[in-house]
Amino acid sequence: MNLEEKLRAKIPGADTGIEIKKSICSICNPHSHCGLDLYVKDGEIIKVEGMLEHKNSRGTLCSKGAATRQYVYHEDRLRSPMKRVGPKGSDNFEAISWEEAYETIAEEFNKLKKEKGPEYAAFFVGYTKWMRPFVQRLAHTYGSPI
Ligand code: SF4
Repeated sequence: MNLEEKLRAKIPGADTGIEIKKSICSICNPHSHCGLDLYVKDGEIIKVEGMLEHKNSRGTLCSKGAATRQYVYHEDRLRSPMKRVGPKGSDNFEAISWEEAYETIAEEFNKLKKEKGPEYAAFFVGYTKWMRPFVQRLAHTYGSPI
């Protein structure tokens, strides 16, 4: 097999520059996190397979995990915090830094707590599920009764 054929077949090796990076899927399950074998070339995931040696998933992936490349590289994926700059519903947002986002959130949370009390804030987490325990801890620390 020549190099061109190996590259087309996405075969890892020094000659192709393709490496398999071990990772986990974090889309849904915070307990098992199915194992991923990510085929990476020049910093880009070019292929995804289930990790055979993973104790729970044993090489299997659901359709969401198998679509990791689409999930990671989708053009609509948000890559930085977004701040609304127009009236609600106007769909006007601008990208801001994580530092600005954290500062804004902390200021607003603290203001709300001081003016109305901690019960006034509701905490909600959708997908992915893995962050739920951390948000629960944040809500508890904030003083929320949930
Ligand atoms: S591969 Fe599917 S079941 Fe496994 S963690 Fe990802 S989304 Fe969940």
